[in-house]
Parts: sequence; structure tokens; C-alpha cells
Amino acid sequence: MSIRIGILGYGNLGRGVECAVRQNPDMELSAVFTRRDPAQVSILTKEAAVCRVSEAEKWKGKIDVMILCGGSATDLPQQTPQYARYFNVVDSFDTHARIPEHFANVDQAAKENGTLGIISVGWDPGMFSLNRMYANAILPEGKDYTFWGKGVSQGHSDAIRRIAGVKNAKQYTIPVEHALEAVRAGENPALTTRQKHTRECFVVLEEGADPAKIEEEIKTMPNYFADYDTTVHFISEEELLKNHSGIPHGGFVIRSGKTGWEQENSHVVEYSLKLDSNPEFTASVIAAYARAAYRLSQEGQTGCRTVFDIAPAYLSPKSGEELRKHLL
Ligand code: NAP
Repeated sequence: MSIRIGILGYGNLGRGVECAVRQNPDMELSAVFTRRDPAQVSILTKEAAVCRVSEAEKWKGKIDVMILCGGSATDLPQQTPQYARYFNVVDSFDTHARIPEHFANVDQAAKENGTLGIISVGWDPGMFSLNRMYANAILPEGKDYTFWGKGVSQGHSDAIRRIAGVKNAKQYTIPVEHALEAVRAGENPALTTRQKHTRECFVVLEEGADPAKIEEEIKTMPNYFADYDTTVHFISEEELLKNHSGIPHGGFVIRSGKTGWEQENSHVVEYSLKLDSNPEFTASVIAAYARAAYRLSQEGQTGCRTVFDIAPAYLSPKSGEELRKHLL
């Protein structure tokens, strides 16, 4: 029998999960749950139901893993613990500073109700976290570097769109090439925020808005842009739609370390991602972890986990024997 998947929240990530489920023959999509009117939400899978979120509890026992696809800012802190009371759950919660608190809430709900949750699954947090951890464990004497991009930052794009006079905007985070090269060369540079990334903004103005004033407002925005070298381009709405409508992202996790009695040998470990679609890749990672959540739950395990706690073999549809023969 295949693993019955539910999707709660149908935005970019929800649709990405739907596509990922289709690529995994051991999974099937049972239902999508939304806070909007289900008649207004059209999904791609013909056999799956679209339901109001208030009906979700009635699906207890009919869904093996519920994938929470709401936003990290306000949806997931509430939704993941809530639905862990009825289902095994997986989410992609990415507010790094609040992960310990979120973990505790999901852990309590899951333990009380005999379910299993895996939180903060995706690429960062997710695959980047795993690669940071592996490299740290292997090279205790060393330095970690994470570079993001080139890619769209949804949060920074939103921040620009909130400025009066801005009609639409897209912001790209770009790693500084010579900083990356110095890290790869094992130079262990100490890098400031400004030395690691630049920010490039494509902005569509409202009629009559003052470009100089808006450029100044963007470049001096605290937390978002003030600590970076930022470039602002003003373009037409058509150009934005034509050239900047994708959601690409990616980045690099690098650890450079030393070994040997006199620390005479250097090693550089690098993991990189180049993603055409951030939500679709995130969703693909989630699908693999949904398989792990199902299997762990079948073994009788309960409570909350993160990517650090899941043995790799649980992610793969292949048997241990196949994995040892072909991938080891
Ligand atoms: P999104 O497209 O804004 O969707 C978030 C929610 O908005 C949906 O679940 C949906 O819930 C609701 N929504 C309301 N009106 C909508 C409309 N007209 N169209 C689409 N959705 C609408 O956000 P997202 O791109 O899916 O990202 C979700 C979260 O994933 C982000 O907050 C981020 O934290 C996380 N993420 C994590 C990683 C990682 O590496 N860990 C990577 C990427 C993203 P309803 O259906 O209930 O209305």
C-alpha cells in the first residue's frame, strides 16, 4: 500500500509537494486542505480531494503523513503542533532562531498523541544543516561558511514592496565571488556580512514615484539592506514579469579544516545547490522525509525529530540490500 499524503496549505510549497509526490511511486496524494474556499483552489491531481482546513481532523486514520505547507512567520508555529495531534507531520519551518521552541511544541503534541513529526525540512534548514553537521563532526579543527544565492529572497522582495511608491519588486541575494574563492582556497578568511553577499533589486515604480528617494530608502533599510552593497534597477512591469518571475535559489556550505599532528594538511568540504525552483526542491526534500516519518511511525516511534535525527536509509525507497549493492 502506498503512503497516503495530505497537504495543508496550497501555496508555492504545497504545489511543489504535489509534484514531488507524483515522482515517488510509493506515495499518493489523498487530500489538500486550505483555509480558502476549496472551490477557488484548483490542484493538479485529479484523484485527490480539496477540503476546508476545518475538515482535516475527520481524515485521521486516512492520511499517513500530513505535510504542513503554510508560512513560517505565523502559520507553522501554530499549525504543526495542532495537526501533530492527529497525524504524523513534516514541515519546513525556517525561522532558525525559533526552532528550539517550535521543536518543543511539536514534540509535546506528538508524544501526547502517539504521532511522529519532522520539522525544519528543506535545504536551509535541511540539507545545508546536515552538510554543516557532517563536516563539523569530521573536521573538528576548522571553519564553517554558508553562502546563499544567487537567488530570490522572498522576505527582502516583500520589504521593498512595502515602500510607498513601489508597485512590485524582486530581490536577489548574490555571493561575492572572490570571498567564495578565498574560502575554497583554504585561506580561512574572516568575512563581514558585506564581504559575503551583495543584494540586487529590480523595482517597478508607481506613477509619479521618485526613484532617487526610493533607492535611498531601500539602501538604508536597517537589517535588510543597510549592511550590504545593494544595487537598485528600475524596470517596467512587463520586464519584471518576463525576466524575474521565477523563484530560483541555492548556495554553498563549505568547511575548511586541518588535520595531521602539526595541522599540516588542509581539507575543503563543499556542498552546493543551484535550484531553478526553491519551493519545488524544498518539496522534494520534504517528500523523502515524509517517507522517513511514515516508517518511523510504523516502528512505533513518537515525538519530534529534525534532519539530524533521521538515518539516511529511511529516506530512500530502496531496500538496505539495494542501497549496499548500488550506492555504498
Ligand atoms: P506561500 O506561497 O506564500 O504560501 C503560504 C500559504 O499562503 C499557503 O499555504 C496558503 O495557505 C496561503 N495562501 C493564501 N492565499 C494564497 C494564494 N492566493 N495563493 C497561494 N497561497 C495562498 O509560501 P511558500 O512559498 O509556499 O512557502 C511556505 C514556507 O516554506 C515559507 O514560509 C518558508 O518558511 C518555507 N520554506 C522553507 C525552506 C527550507 O529550506 N526549509 C525553503 C523554502 C520555503 P491556504 O491554502 O491555507 O490559504
